[in-house]
Parts: sequence; structure tokens; C-alpha cells
Amino acid sequence: GIDIQGVYKSYRNGDQITEVLQDVTLQVKDGEFLAMIGPSGSGKSTLMNIIGCLDRPTKGNYYLAGEDTGKLNDRKLAAIRNRHIGFVFQSFNLLPQYTALENVELAGLYSNDSPKAVRERAKQALIALSMEDRMKYRPSQLSGGQKQRVAIARAIINSPSMILADEPTGSLDSKTGREVLDIFRQLNQEGKTIMIVTHDLGIAHEAKRIVNINDGVVREA
Ligand code: ATP
Ligand code: MG
Repeated sequence: GIDIQGVYKSYRNGDQITEVLQDVTLQVKDGEFLAMIGPSGSGKSTLMNIIGCLDRPTKGNYYLAGEDTGKLNDRKLAAIRNRHIGFVFQSFNLLPQYTALENVELAGLYSNDSPKAVRERAKQALIALSMEDRMKYRPSQLSGGQKQRVAIARAIINSPSMILADEPTGSLDSKTGREVLDIFRQLNQEGKTIMIVTHDLGIAHEAKRIVNINDGVVREA
């Protein structure tokens, strides 16, 4: 699980300082399904990036799976990220020059497995997402929902305990968005912790827990 204690985040641009997160305290237990809602610019992506160890707090403590991330150097932080976190984004972030299978495989190369074993795991991940007949397609040849399935396969290839999804349905029509939500629900039933940022209240209400973020202040909804 995660334990965020009194976290602040500010950005400095020249002599201007923007306070983004203010005294955020949030615990998420293993196996939870949590939705985060809040207006544009309120700090949702900033918080997700800290939870995903892509960025660090300016002040405060963040424990991931019992590790005090503030005490880890960048290399160890990347290692714990690769072991525990899978990311899914609104814009899919697939590499256009690679096939669906290659996009998933590339994420698997962070492990110590042989390339052959990684390919097998990538195939299994795509099969689990009903994408077995699209493995050789490039992103431009896939629908939005299919691209997001590839991105989810990429997120799960290293068997993370937690999936962070930043507006994963934001580029999809509502029916396809529902299907993607069903995938997250299934992954949650299989034991994964899911944290999803959404502007869609209908989707948020499907989560077991909702937190609200406003001007960088987090409250349970
Ligand atoms: P949206 O719903 O539009 O995605 P958000 O809640 O995800 O919004 P963030 O991306 O977390 O919002 O941004 C919060 C604030 O932090 C914004 O005012 C933004 O301009 C600022 N910010 C984010 N990243 C940086 C950065 N690298 N440098 C300076 N300011 C930043
Ligand atoms: Mg955002």
C-alpha cells in the first residue's frame, strides 16, 4: 500500500513559485479501488506522479510498500517503481513505430528475464486483454479502446501491485470507457490496487472510494 504524510509540492519558474500540493495525507491499502476527482489544475497528475515515483515531494514523506521513498536514490526509486507501479495515461503514450506486442515487450525488458520469456509474458498480457489478433498492429492501426488495452497490457507486464491511471477513459467514447473501466475492475478483483483519475463522475462512483482534490488539498469524498 501507500502512505503519504504531509506532502507538499511546489514548482519554481524563475522567481515565481507555484504551490501545487498542500499538506496531502493519504493512505491507500493493498487491494483498494480509488478514484481521484478534482478540477483541472488542482494537482491530480502531480500527485499521481509522486505516487508513481516519477517525481518527488518538495516536503513530507511518501512510503511505498513500506519503503521511505525519500531515503532512496534515483536508481533505487526507479527499481521500486518498476516492481510496484504500472501506469496508464489518457493519451496512451504508445510508441508509434512499434507494434502492440513490441510496445508491451519494451516495458518488460526492465526485468531480468530473457527476451524470449519477456515476449511470452507480453503475449500473455495481450491475450488477457483480448488483443491476441492485434499483436502485430501498430498504434495508428488500432482504435482508441484497443490502444488503451495495449497500454494496460504494458502496465501489467511486470506484475505491479498497483496501477495508476491518469484519465484513462478521457480520450474514449463512453461505451469504450466503460469497457476499459471493466478491465480495471477485473484487475482489482485479481488483487491489484487501482488508482484512477477521472473527470467522469459516473466512473468515479464505480470506485469503492473517492478522494477529492481542490487547489492541492485532498479530502475524502
Ligand atoms: P488536469 O485535470 O487538467 O489534468 P491536474 O489536476 O492533473 O489537471 P496538474 O497537472 O497536477 O493538474 O497541475 C497542477 C498545477 O501544477 C498546474 O497549475 C500546473 O500549471 C502546475 N504544474 C504542473 N507541472 C508543472 C511543472 N513541471 N512546472 C511548473 N508548474 C507545473
Ligand atoms: Mg492531469
